Amino acid sequence: MDTIKENYINIKKQLPEHVQLVAVSKTHPVSEIQKVYDLGQRVFGENKVQELLEKQPLLPEDIQWHLIGHLQTNKVKYIAAFIDTIQSVDSEKLLSEINKEAAKYNRTIKVLLQVKIAEEESKFGFEISEAEDLFNQYLNGDFPNIQITGLMGMATFTEDEKQIRKEFLILKNLFDALHQLKKLDTLSMGMSDDFPIAVECGANSVRVGSAIFGKRDYSR
Ligand SMILES: *Cc1c(COP(=O)(O)O)cnc(C)c1O
Repeated sequence: MDTIKENYINIKKQLPEHVQLVAVSKTHPVSEIQKVYDLGQRVFGENKVQELLEKQPLLPEDIQWHLIGHLQTNKVKYIAAFIDTIQSVDSEKLLSEINKEAAKYNRTIKVLLQVKIAEEESKFGFEISEAEDLFNQYLNGDFPNIQITGLMGMATFTEDEKQIRKEFLILKNLFDALHQLKKLDTLSMGMSDDFPIAVECGANSVRVGSAIFGKRDYSR
């Protein structure tokens, strides 16, 4: 059997029904994305605006595209017309810009707040308290063309399962706290190497790339 097909079926088998799979297709060609689409997958994640803009017109219109990588405010306008969810919102400035661009298209864009949970120094993501503050601003009605549907986080890149679990549970706690204030849908955590732990810790959305499409060529 085809490797990608085999991988995809294998991942789907490991995911409980309630867990959404975001197939992370960055660096992989449209032919491979189409292959996974043909197996029934509709939600795909890309981390670069330029790459997304090259692929999106060549693929079926009913794909729900998620942006999962750091987004510069000046690039929001290029994706505002079609992006389903921006998972990597890491500043108030970015949130405002998304709100503004979404209004131009008379639509609501779903976003996740990216929260720093990893022990290693990560450049992007809110501190817990910042995410809480911004969420309260959102509850005050500051961003009418945005729907904050949940949180996204990445654990430390380590073999230490206990460490990973601890970090995922920090995000799960924040998710539960915010969910008390307003219903949230999505807790996005877990990648190819750690998604089973993430699911155990309460993730209901996972972002899986290499375990489906194979290793990425980092030279590009
Ligand atoms: C690339 C990427 C993934 C997928 O990583 P894999 O290890 O290939 O599954 C998930 N989340 C983010 C934010 C990414 O950039």
